[in-house]
Amino acid sequence: MICRVCDSTHLELVIDLGSQPWCNNFLKKEEVGKEHYYPLHVLFCHNCHTSQLDFTVKKEIMFGDHTYLSGVTRSLSEHFRSVAAEVDRNFFKDLKQKSVLDIGSNDGTQLKHFQALGYEVLGVESSKTTAKIANDAGVPTLNAFFNLETLRGVGRQYDVINASGVFFHLEELHSVCEAIREGLKPEGVFVVQFLYMKSIMENLAFDQIYHEHLLYYTLETIETLLRRHGLPMFDAYLAPIHGGSIIGFVTHAGRRKPSARLESMRAAERQEGCNSIDAYHEFSERIKQMKVENVAYLSGARRAGKRVFGFGAPVKGNTLLNYFGIGPDVIECLVEKNELRRGLYSPGMHIPIAIESELKELPDIYYVLAWNFKKEILANSRALLDRGIEFYFPVDPKVSA
Ligand SMILES: [Zn+2]
Repeated sequence: MICRVCDSTHLELVIDLGSQPWCNNFLKKEEVGKEHYYPLHVLFCHNCHTSQLDFTVKKEIMFGDHTYLSGVTRSLSEHFRSVAAEVDRNFFKDLKQKSVLDIGSNDGTQLKHFQALGYEVLGVESSKTTAKIANDAGVPTLNAFFNLETLRGVGRQYDVINASGVFFHLEELHSVCEAIREGLKPEGVFVVQFLYMKSIMENLAFDQIYHEHLLYYTLETIETLLRRHGLPMFDAYLAPIHGGSIIGFVTHAGRRKPSARLESMRAAERQEGCNSIDAYHEFSERIKQMKVENVAYLSGARRAGKRVFGFGAPVKGNTLLNYFGIGPDVIECLVEKNELRRGLYSPGMHIPIAIESELKELPDIYYVLAWNFKKEILANSRALLDRGIEFYFPVDPKVSA
């Protein structure tokens, strides 16, 4: 194994979540029990400090037809609106004709907000189903994996290139970075939005570790990667989305000076030591402790005769359920809004999905797997809270959307 970012062979195992099925693969009834298992191990690179998985499930398997939809969650759409507004206000306000390319554009939620600001848009999305949803909604979308070849096929440059929740997925990491450099106009801005490993550690959000997330970034590590491709970061801020995400602004070398807020975030990282191997060892110990506490809580609730449903069936929930070993004998069903998941079962633990609007009974406890939308969930669930239903957050984020 060589480091995905710097090619070093000096890697060390820091987090072992055992063997797990590919967690976005919600199963049809006839597929239950037939899913493949793959190792889920995080390694730390002693050279560039990037944490990463040692095993890659092929991108064609993982992203050829995924069913994740950005537009389902109001707070995610609201986040994308504010990013588009900030990019336009800060960099392109006076430009008459402006354009944006979105990598991994999903159902077009991010691009709709750019369209509303007068941008010419193009999405690149690997999932056929999702790309069709975007095209049908009036967001021009290419059904392809973004890389150097795809960019050259598109054959032009953009004022803005955006990648939200994409960089940690990338099997073709260096080809994608080269394509961004080629596809970005000289004065263009690349917007990179990614889960912040510092927040993952602070929130104990180990469920963000799954096969689709090949890499876990801090500012230090993503800057190392981007600089290798002549793309320095010049500004960034922390947004509450997904429990703490960095919105980073990147441009061609020699164009802009780093902002004061970027410098202070870099300093905070150095001060807290989150790029050290010790931070990862401590994180790993806290995950083990969390398992003990959650299993004790849920088995206590079951002994007391309480019914428990899962709230949401996010992909990351499967890491947590599989690592904790929580099955349908403890959590009866996972309640979900996304109708594409109707009739499916969670991979590994085989908990059935129930669609929220079709629910006939209510639990005593909602075990909230979609914890990153804590604020939105609690605000939308007043009636349930008033009826005495408990909402238990296995991961309790410091900030939430
Ligand atoms: Zn490395």
